[in-house]
Amino acid sequence: MEIIYRCSGCGKPFDDRKQCELHEEKCLNDEITFVCDRCGKNERAKIYNIESNPILNRYHDIFIGEIGYGSVFDNVDIEFTVCDDCLASILDEFKNKNIILSK
Ligand SMILES: [Zn+2]
Ligand SMILES: [Zn+2]
Repeated sequence: MEIIYRCSGCGKPFDDRKQCELHEEKCLNDEITFVCDRCGKNERAKIYNIESNPILNRYHDIFIGEIGYGSVFDNVDIEFTVCDDCLASILDEFKNKNIILSK
């Protein structure tokens, strides 16, 4: 019978305990840094359980893409990340925020 070892972080199976431990050490410690491009605030989070980490919900990627002729942003590619607080303060300046914020 083959014994299967599983990473306690991501659940990946291994048939060798040493391999599993080596993977697990890295898997459980790898981190990602979220940075707000507006205020510079940043937070680090472990990657292995990132899907269930509330930090993921506090940083928002805004992708507008390349804007063309006729705009002051002609030829500029716009993409940035803002934190929850910055998103709240930006949206607070919107005249139509009752329309753009819906539940
Ligand atoms: Zn793992
Ligand atoms: Zn911010």
